Amino acid sequence: MKHTITCIACPLGCRVEIEETNQKNREYLISGHKCIRGEKYAIEEITNPTRVLTYTVKIMNANLSRLPVKTAAAVPKDLLFKCIEEIDKIELKAPVKIGTVIIENVLNTGVDIVSTRSMM
Ligand code: SF4
Repeated sequence: MKHTITCIACPLGCRVEIEETNQKNREYLISGHKCIRGEKYAIEEITNPTRVLTYTVKIMNANLSRLPVKTAAAVPKDLLFKCIEEIDKIELKAPVKIGTVIIENVLNTGVDIVSTRSMM
């Protein structure tokens, strides 16, 4: 089965076509990419797609009611909604500094949820 993927590894956004030619040996026919990163991205996208999650968490005693957070690295795409559910269980109290770990090792992914701004 042929997949067409837009590579997001750089702003060029190449349209990469990928088809698995040998499932046992994990061989692929890949075209449309302008560099090796597109090849790597296309293989990851059809075998184990991941994303960095950006979201917000409730915060009390601050000038805004929600603090922006993100995963410190990409997590499996199928865990994104479960990560949101974990973040929604949290209610922080100001002050919080940028880079503060909000949830350590979310869902045993090895990735932390961190704040992306300070809030006093
Ligand atoms: S294949 Fe290379 S040049 Fe094309 S979007 Fe991906 S990173 Fe950029």
